[in-house]
Amino acid sequence: MTKPHNKDQETKKIDDLPLTPIPEKAAKVIEEIKTRVLKTIENSETKFKTIFEQSTFGNKIIDADLKIIKVNRALTELLGYSAEELQGTLITDIAHPDYVNDWKELQRKLWADKNASFSIDTCVLMKDQETLWCRVTSIIFEDAGATFGYTIFEDITERKNYERIRAEVDAKKDEFISIVSHELRTPLTTIKAINQLLEKAVNKDQTYYGFIEKSNYHIVRLEKLILDLIDVTKIQAGNVDLNISSFDVNAFIKTCISSLQTIHPTHKIRFEGTLPLTIMGDQFRIEQVLINLINNAVKYSPSANKVEVSLSTEGGYVKIAVQDYGIGIAKKNLNNIFNRFYRVGQASHHFQGLGLGLYIASEIVAKHEGKFGIESKPAHGTTIWFSLPMVQHLN
Ligand code: ATP
Ligand code: MG
Repeated sequence: MTKPHNKDQETKKIDDLPLTPIPEKAAKVIEEIKTRVLKTIENSETKFKTIFEQSTFGNKIIDADLKIIKVNRALTELLGYSAEELQGTLITDIAHPDYVNDWKELQRKLWADKNASFSIDTCVLMKDQETLWCRVTSIIFEDAGATFGYTIFEDITERKNYERIRAEVDAKKDEFISIVSHELRTPLTTIKAINQLLEKAVNKDQTYYGFIEKSNYHIVRLEKLILDLIDVTKIQAGNVDLNISSFDVNAFIKTCISSLQTIHPTHKIRFEGTLPLTIMGDQFRIEQVLINLINNAVKYSPSANKVEVSLSTEGGYVKIAVQDYGIGIAKKNLNNIFNRFYRVGQASHHFQGLGLGLYIASEIVAKHEGKFGIESKPAHGTTIWFSLPMVQHLN
């Protein structure tokens, strides 16, 4: 029979035991563990040193006074300074004078705001006073009770130069488009006026009347292209001004559709009106958006015979949607269709256009603090909608 367990007795027994030295075997195990821990630390230090030294990115370590205490070879090669020249200095000493604040911001985010890491694109001056653009990523770390900053430099000068050249080319292109489109507009206005005179002078039964109608159609197309190009250069230069007034969006859609219906006899443009709904906005510009969407809906649904327009309200916004039953747009292209001059590959071969309508429309809607949305299924059709705030805070 086992004796009942007595806890007090047991505790006393242990306390009474004489203090004996740690057996030899246990001491050996402890020694082994110590050696292994030290080895692991040593190994990770070696790894860290190797990564730091061998990295193809420039690396530096700074102390809590922000002084550089260590740099790797890649950084000395990038900057043209020797390790000795860099050690003991502050990075702000070689920051590009126009970008010193970037470096101060980086330091503030890390040291004062205690962000774990921070990244920024900025630049420094190399020893030969050339500019080096770099993506800088910094982290803060603790070692032996002290705090340090570890920074990685990635040379992005080539990308920055490319972006600068591209911006310059784009600016030149916009300037060219602006000059050409304005120059084309003047003679076109004269041709349009002459054609209108001819239209009045020639009897509708005469053979020539058909020619006049045809040239009228092409004049209108040309005029639209030129106006779109002028709009693009205005948008790029930030020169689109809105003439804000209040108007009934319901009546506005009806008027817009009735004028478009005459030029699109192939499709019935349906709209089920709602109660009068007043919004503030630039009626001319909003009309331009709706015309673009309806023109697209007709153009990209050559086998269909209807287009549906709807008006609704949703969370303080009026929403105008245009639905077609046409070729649709593949998911992978949806994100691009609002980019200027973008046209979906296949469609661009079969349908005329510059790829500007949706770009201009999206800029106009954005100016009204509105939103755009699209749902589409290839071979089934597309619904594009835009919404405008019912209460506008526009200047
Ligand atoms: P533009 O409007 O300048 O005359 P565009 O119609 O080609 O030319 P956008 O209106 O900006 O230009 O449209 C961009 C592209 O998006 C079009 O080329 C077309 O590929 C696609 N797209 C636009 N609307 C539709 C639609 N309703 N159905 C199918 N594809 C569309
Ligand atoms: Mg279009």
